[in-house]
Amino acid sequence: MFKKILIANRGEIALRIIRAAKDLEIKTVAVYSKADTDSLHTQLADERVCIGPAPASESYLNIPQVISAAIITECDAIHPGYGFLAENATFAEICIEHNIAFIGPSPDVIASMGDKIKAKVLMKKADVPIVPGLLEAVSNLDEIKKIIQKIGYPVIIKAAAGGGGKGIRIIEDSSQLEPMINAARLEAEKAFKDSSLYIEKYIQKPRHIEVQILGDNYGNIIHLGERECSIQSRHQKLIEETPPVNISQKIKQKMCEIAVRAARSVKYKSAGTIEFLFDSREKKFYFIEMNTRIQVEHPVTELVTGIDLVKLQIQLAAGEKLKLTQKDIVPSGHAIECRINAVDPDNNFAPSPGKIESLHLPGGPGVRLDTHIYAGYTIPPNYDSMIAKLITYGEDRKEALSRMRRALSEFIVNGIKTTIPFHLRILNDSSFIKGDIHTHFLSCMDKKNNSSPQIPTE
Ligand code: ADP
Repeated sequence: MFKKILIANRGEIALRIIRAAKDLEIKTVAVYSKADTDSLHTQLADERVCIGPAPASESYLNIPQVISAAIITECDAIHPGYGFLAENATFAEICIEHNIAFIGPSPDVIASMGDKIKAKVLMKKADVPIVPGLLEAVSNLDEIKKIIQKIGYPVIIKAAAGGGGKGIRIIEDSSQLEPMINAARLEAEKAFKDSSLYIEKYIQKPRHIEVQILGDNYGNIIHLGERECSIQSRHQKLIEETPPVNISQKIKQKMCEIAVRAARSVKYKSAGTIEFLFDSREKKFYFIEMNTRIQVEHPVTELVTGIDLVKLQIQLAAGEKLKLTQKDIVPSGHAIECRINAVDPDNNFAPSPGKIESLHLPGGPGVRLDTHIYAGYTIPPNYDSMIAKLITYGEDRKEALSRMRRALSEFIVNGIKTTIPFHLRILNDSSFIKGDIHTHFLSCMDKKNNSSPQIPTE
């Protein structure tokens, strides 16, 4: 087992990893930017190293700095968390070259799954259903027009190197084609330094359902069930739950089997997620991507399975064999997660960084809170606006939802604005309560209420 792990991340996920390491009696090293000097992860880790100024490009994304910090503190492993360097194949390779284990899958799997086009080609070969569309980067406009003639409008354009909903455009008809492609290309270049795009059929009002996967170095792969992630704003998830409602057991079972097949086809090691779009009308699902890291929403799976995913991720990276078999995975009850962001719901969800003057945290039966905030903490403006994940568990969905309402109304953060009141609105919406959800749920809810809240992208 590892002796010391460097956590190449910040915020709640850095704390989550420190906690898993402590449970395994492994020492931890926190790295931090100057903006995060007072952040909780720097205080809970055994050691801390400042790796640069506030901009992520100069600190959390600065590979030489992160690797140097690991070398001087004699770490034998690095956990990348999510975001930042988590899906950077070059970083994973550099870790290995320096004899530091990368807690995640192998660099070649990160590289092929990180390229959405390559991933779709691989999945097609493995007989995993994919959304109809191009299987190569878009270049020539005539070619694009030809493929659209085949699949028909509406279509969706995505950045091949994409993530976090960036570079996505939906095109309803031919008049929008050229300007949309140009805009997506610019956005992709800015966000990922790679302007290649691809195009696929736009599924109307789909649901986003994903399957949690675990694999070891010896070819054992299991799934830990599905998660519903359809409550999204600008293609970014806000609320996740498990199990998804209003989908037959047979379909869910099939999705999980196909997810395992998908992971097996790339000899997947570590925790990963296979994401699908589910067309409720056609009762068909399609692979959209594989995330080769721990997901923000992993706690809902942990609550219904009783499995510590981050701990397992560390054990698998250390070469331990997966002791669990598929039969051991018997999810029970219902879990739901609300992402709490420091934004102002009454001001078009504008970022609301600043000092937390006072704080009251929720608790009680069935409530888990993963957060790095504390009273007196100043949220820096430089990073993602998520400040907490509130997760509740119940014997059934009804109980998980009432516990979430209770926890949200107990959760008081003074000094900044948060999405807490917005979540309460969703939790009290009659369609949400019925489980009548899809990826456009929020814009439909806004139309019903005559408002237009959308969380802005970073
Ligand atoms: P990213 O990696 O940027 O998050 P994804 O490919 O995972 O991008 O897609 C993000 C979201 O965009 C999905 O959850 C879904 O809401 C929407 N989406 C993606 N592809 C399609 C599609 N073909 N049809 C309809 N919606 C889509």
